[in-house]
Amino acid sequence: MASYKTTCCYCGVGCGIVVHQDRQGKIQVEGDKDHPVNRGMLCSKGMNLHYTVMDTSDRLYYPEMRYNRHLPRQRVSWDQALDRTAAVFTQIIQQYGPDAVAFYASGQCLTEEYYVVNKLIKGFIGSNNIDTNSRLCMSSAVAAYKLALGEDSVPGAYDDLELADCIFVAGANPAWCHPILWRRVEAAKAANPDLKIIVSDPRVTQSCATADLHLQIHPGTDIVLHHAIGRILIEQGHIDPLFIRDHTDGFQQYREIVMERSIASAAEICDIPEAAICEAASLIGNASGFMTLWTMGLNQSVVGVRKNLSLINLHLITGQIGKPGAGPFSLTGQPNAMGGREVGGLSNLLPAHRVLDNPAHRKEVQEFWGGVPLSEKPGLTATEMFTALNDGKLKAIWIMCTNPLVSLPDARLAEAALKKAKFVVVQEISNRPETLQYADVILPAAAWTEKEGTMTNAERRISYLQKLTTPPGEALPDAEIICRFARKMGFHGFDYENAAAIYAEHCRLTAGTNIDVSGLNYTTLQEKRTVQWPYPQGATGDGTPRLFTDQTFYTQTGKAVIHSFPDGNNSTPPDPELPLILTTGRIRDQWHTMSKTGKVSKLKQHIPAPLLEIHPDDAEERDIKADDIVEIFNANGNVRVKAQLSTNIKKGVVFLPMHWGKTLNSDLNRANNLTHTLVDPISKQPDLKYSAVQVRRF
Ligand code: SF4
Repeated sequence: MASYKTTCCYCGVGCGIVVHQDRQGKIQVEGDKDHPVNRGMLCSKGMNLHYTVMDTSDRLYYPEMRYNRHLPRQRVSWDQALDRTAAVFTQIIQQYGPDAVAFYASGQCLTEEYYVVNKLIKGFIGSNNIDTNSRLCMSSAVAAYKLALGEDSVPGAYDDLELADCIFVAGANPAWCHPILWRRVEAAKAANPDLKIIVSDPRVTQSCATADLHLQIHPGTDIVLHHAIGRILIEQGHIDPLFIRDHTDGFQQYREIVMERSIASAAEICDIPEAAICEAASLIGNASGFMTLWTMGLNQSVVGVRKNLSLINLHLITGQIGKPGAGPFSLTGQPNAMGGREVGGLSNLLPAHRVLDNPAHRKEVQEFWGGVPLSEKPGLTATEMFTALNDGKLKAIWIMCTNPLVSLPDARLAEAALKKAKFVVVQEISNRPETLQYADVILPAAAWTEKEGTMTNAERRISYLQKLTTPPGEALPDAEIICRFARKMGFHGFDYENAAAIYAEHCRLTAGTNIDVSGLNYTTLQEKRTVQWPYPQGATGDGTPRLFTDQTFYTQTGKAVIHSFPDGNNSTPPDPELPLILTTGRIRDQWHTMSKTGKVSKLKQHIPAPLLEIHPDDAEERDIKADDIVEIFNANGNVRVKAQLSTNIKKGVVFLPMHWGKTLNSDLNRANNLTHTLVDPISKQPDLKYSAVQVRRF
């Protein structure tokens, strides 16, 4: 039996895994006791990862292609598939320009994969049309970090959770969605009962079981709550005047705006008792180490950036940042969303967090890559790509490692868009995703343990993943597929000897930036296992656990910015026809669109089918009993699932899990039939947590 160390490929926690492989190639997994993140623990998804590797019944083995939509796809060679794809892309680019093609990738991709696809489209095709499903996940947090701190950078580390004495979890359920991190918080609370935990969420979730205070907030009112807490902190003198004076800009305007609304008014809007808001402010104000954790409840909003900023402001007025046990901590959903941003893998970014609208940045990157001049025009974001396909402005899309027909808002619009596309390439490991039926070309990709590369977790921790098993059939690592395609297009600069060479190029390109990892390479990562960026040339140790320790921020002035803005929500509100607010989210044992977890029978036992969580009063008004089939509907579409009556959800709010897609030609399990394409104007992240709907017994 041989044993190898790697990293879990599901969520942004980034747990270390030991893979044991017997002589027949069969593998087992266990948590890595020496790993700084999980210390031997694994959640249900991680524990069952070996089943996803061993069960190859759904794997794609060979490239497939069809010459038109009326013909079935046929097995072809890699050369045939990539020659035709290169010919079609070339023809479309010649006829309509480079912005007529796009790549839609994933926070599951390894850093090397992101790097080469970003280089291909921006540096050689000449368009910025690359976006990823990270747009649906954390782009509001990214924008807020940049606006407040001058850089997309999580200030602290997981170890800070054990040093804090107040943790405010806003719009997140880490007990289910970041389980191992939450196990560490639970252990910290057990060891230190003085650690106070506040959770704000319209639902009573598993995370509330550990909380001292649950604020069962009305959806969309987070800014009102955060401003009210800010007002109490100011009024009660729980702020840090010296930190505000020396290290921030914008406090006076903030003070004025938070004073405009009384705490009584905030309590009414948020539908939270005034005393509970005061208690939250008191716990925060009296903490010597204050941390916030958040995810989709704040990010997936039409005012997602403002929600993030309003939370970060609580740190800036109290000076709770850049020191042990303190800081605003965005919990990344996917395993490598951060690595993707490091290489510039979003439609508005360039490598190493450079930006498109800076001519010096564009010049640096173009000279480094040696390709075409970089366009300053931002590319299409996730939702914009599908709207552009639907409108005929975008002709071809290449979908890598993601299943947009389940995860995108207004999924029926996304489906219509793929039907209209001139050419669709799907690069995938599994035959399960719904997108495959629209693919003109299918490219089989290698999965976890079948390729090497790196990922960065939510605390800026870079891990090396080694190749342990052989991909089935002719499946190839994603980076190799992209490089082979680039060479077919006639582009130079894609002749990498191996993944290590791609990583080395990425590291060189970060030199001198705020996220400098020019001191890293595969050898160092293999030795150290994990390192937290930055890690410049000459760095030693395990990297940088905490940023801003000298209270100098990455803004031009070196000061953090306290932003001020109105506290309203801009979602489409409920009305008499659509009186309920639908919120969507994850369940404990499934991951995203279930293309991996959906084939593990153990993981289906927890919640085997989608359910509508509805308050008993809302159910009674509609004559709905437990387990009745109900129809949830609005102008976008409908869903039919069983009702689960629960006082855990706020009255007036209903919840659907986001994982299920089409089954047996029915799409009535799919929550995103009901969501809409409104996005935050800055982050372009969709408003997935707030859709007006009606429910009736079916
Ligand atoms: Fe994997 Fe996340 Fe579970 Fe850790 S918490 S084992 S990274 S899914």
